[in-house]
Amino acid sequence: MHEARHRTIRRNPRSLHIVRRVTPPSGGHVVYQIHEARPEIVAAAHAHSIFGKAWSAVGRLVGPITQDACAFYEDHVFFDETRVLVTDANEGAALAAALGRCKAAILRNHGLITVGETIEEAVWWFVSLERCCQSQFLAESVSTPLQVDPENARAARAVNGTPFVGWLQCQPLWRRIVRDSPISLAELHERSPRYRARPP
Ligand SMILES: [Zn+2]
Repeated sequence: MHEARHRTIRRNPRSLHIVRRVTPPSGGHVVYQIHEARPEIVAAAHAHSIFGKAWSAVGRLVGPITQDACAFYEDHVFFDETRVLVTDANEGAALAAALGRCKAAILRNHGLITVGETIEEAVWWFVSLERCCQSQFLAESVSTPLQVDPENARAARAVNGTPFVGWLQCQPLWRRIVRDSPISLAELHERSPRYRARPP
């Protein structure tokens, strides 16, 4: 995020606000088909973060073992694709189909991807899912974690897993990023009011 600049942020291609295609070759196909399938999605977050990519090799979804993890209960998928590079439109379409209406996917042997109706929402789900992967590793390292039952997991997701809550949870992080990156995201805010933090 500290490297993000106005010219390097790519918006939903359906909105015709693509500024510049600068992501790595495989990155374009990862997100483009998702935008095609989900017009309400403004942003997708994808990175090879340490706990996310480690959990992607485990081959399971994140379980509802904490309140935070319940935000992803029945709302994320495991994309069981053995080719780790998403290099063409067909593979991107397969990922978009697997993602369905969910907010996140764990890409086998690859990492995490999250989506949101705002940039902030997509960022927050990514940060939160990465932490959920970390928490599950910690819990499973000492015992079999207790699971929240389905009814309570769904109830927690209904409260903690909405687009607004994702946006809201990101605000302290967003402020810190802007404060610590005066020439990057601050510049972005100045040049494009569309990117200003605001409720969805
Ligand atoms: Zn990747």
